Amino acid sequence: MKKKIFLLPGDGIGKEISIQAKKILSWIDSKTKFEFELSEDYVGGAAIDKYGTPLSDKTLKELRKSDAIILGAVGGPKWEELSFDLRPERGLLKIRKELDLFANFRPAIVFNSLVNSSTLKKEVIEGLDILIIRELTSGIYFGEPRGIEIVNNEITKGFNTLVYYSNEIMRIADVAFQTANSRKKKLCSVDKANVLESTELWRNIVSDLSKKYPEVELTHMYVDNASMQLVRNPKQFDVIVTTNMFGDILSDCASMLTGSLGMLPSASIGIKNGKKSAMYEPVHGSAPDISGKNIANPLAMILSISMMMDYSFSEKKISKVIFNAVNSILEKGYRTVDILDEKSKKVSTDEMGDLVIGELNNG
Ligand code: NAD
Repeated sequence: MKKKIFLLPGDGIGKEISIQAKKILSWIDSKTKFEFELSEDYVGGAAIDKYGTPLSDKTLKELRKSDAIILGAVGGPKWEELSFDLRPERGLLKIRKELDLFANFRPAIVFNSLVNSSTLKKEVIEGLDILIIRELTSGIYFGEPRGIEIVNNEITKGFNTLVYYSNEIMRIADVAFQTANSRKKKLCSVDKANVLESTELWRNIVSDLSKKYPEVELTHMYVDNASMQLVRNPKQFDVIVTTNMFGDILSDCASMLTGSLGMLPSASIGIKNGKKSAMYEPVHGSAPDISGKNIANPLAMILSISMMMDYSFSEKKISKVIFNAVNSILEKGYRTVDILDEKSKKVSTDEMGDLVIGELNNG
């Protein structure tokens, strides 16, 4: 049966990189045996303009029926004045919550040809291949109570709540142990157990679960130390598992090890009522500063499709072919501006998409 793939380009450069995503999907359709049907709709600011809400009920209903979602990015200055509940980012958070996409995989891989694009020394990042697994549907971004309240005439209070339930920690830790087991069998759990009770619970549960995975070497690290270690010696890590907010911050930090936010794909996986859901998206946002200029790096988006073919459809060969095509183009010296150096050839978003297709056709 044909798989259902749903594309949500979103806002800003999300639309530009989604055009490149469609080129890759067309290639898969015409050059491989993998069968799928592709649907498309609005999300974020584009959905606010079209439907008056960042994620319409009709769109959500369709997303529930799909086997995999590909999302560009949401947000932008046009919608920043809206109330918090109506902002573009709420559309994205709603998809994650409604489809229960609790496990967010963010690989940070340094391509050999990009070693010099990082601000870090070559020896620190060469050959780097780490994976951050971020809990995505709980923690401080979702905890109640939250809000801004006037306390008295002089003081206003802003507050959020960091809550984790044991079952939420258990399921993300289980995914992390299984993933670590399939890689180098090294897992580092990052928390702030010395000052935050909810992450003390996190540490206890991860430690308990480690008895089920004796072959995986588990370490714990406080988040402040982890952020420092990621920059000092990132190759000490293989798989990192952490909370929603810590994962958000650490993965942006890890992105600079790879040279650019424009290189980082992600996968978010969940299971609700027995159905597996998955969304694939670049880690970066809608980049309003470069939107509409045809200069955004589409490779994080293209690598997200590579992840989709592997994680959702077990099409490891197609996944690898796409990954290798990206690698080859970089080896040949083609770069969008974010990863450009003096020796490389500058290309636009569109040209980069076409070059990857050319490589796929030659491969
Ligand atoms: P951003 O990731 O959009 O941009 C940060 C910086 O990285 C900018 O200088 C941008 O030009 C650059 N950059 C990002 N992606 C790039 C790419 N593919 N190629 C080249 N350069 C790239 O983060 P921001 O500026 O903090 O946020 C802009 C908007 O995006 C905000 O509205 C924010 O809420 C939203 N946002 C959305 C997502 C998402 O949709 N998943 C994630 C983060 C931020």
